[in-house]
Amino acid sequence: MISSNPGKILLFFAHPDDETSSCGGTINKYSKLGSQVYICTATNGNKGDLGTGDLKLTREELGPYREKEELKVLKSLGAYDVLQLGYDDQCLELLENGVLEQQFLNILKKIQPNIVITFGQRGFSGHTDHIQVNINATNAFNKYVTIYSAQNIRLFYTAMPKLIAEKREMDLSEEEKSPTIGIDISDTWGNKVAGLRMYKSQRDAQEIANMFETMYQGDSIDNYGESREEILQLFESLKNYGYTSNPTEYFHQYYPKLENYNGTILSNRF
Ligand SMILES: [Zn+2]
Repeated sequence: MISSNPGKILLFFAHPDDETSSCGGTINKYSKLGSQVYICTATNGNKGDLGTGDLKLTREELGPYREKEELKVLKSLGAYDVLQLGYDDQCLELLENGVLEQQFLNILKKIQPNIVITFGQRGFSGHTDHIQVNINATNAFNKYVTIYSAQNIRLFYTAMPKLIAEKREMDLSEEEKSPTIGIDISDTWGNKVAGLRMYKSQRDAQEIANMFETMYQGDSIDNYGESREEILQLFESLKNYGYTSNPTEYFHQYYPKLENYNGTILSNRF
């Protein structure tokens, strides 16, 4: 166990559940280590699924319901605070220029984080809200660092191993396919999956929970058509690049830029 923590961590994401899908294990791990983890979610996700299993919501009920789900999940993961901006789903690109960036900048100034995490340039899935969060969070971060001379701060984008991204034919930026850091979430991935299960309104969250369980404990075929065996073989071939087959969440360090970065995992902690 690491004894020190990196201070305050601030996450900028688009929809309730993005943070847990991509960073749930990391949120839980660093909260347990004593970091204050803040999550800023730009929309209320009101255009998403209207429930899974026996849960059936109306379109009007969905936004408030998802925001409540998020608060419950993040409480269970030990997050310090959640800032919900409450915009309509799929509408971030329609906002007046600079509005979201200014809100993000105000949050940076108020919290003064040491680590900032957001989506990379393709937003991991190409969703326009995800891409808008990347653009506005990166611009706000750059202003925060240059105009306000913020020190001791790093910016990370969510990422995944290149070999896996290419195998799944995902449309990702180079940064999103070049993790510089792989946070080992062996101790907390079970809580991440439990958190995803609590997002009962969303099919995606349930599917990602299934995928994680299949990758790390089951032995059947997962949603992407890869067997556990196949995934382990992939990680075996990635070992030289610093990968392990432990449950891991990956990030690319975007600022400060890493000079002569050679495509390997440089660290398993912030
Ligand atoms: Zn999303």
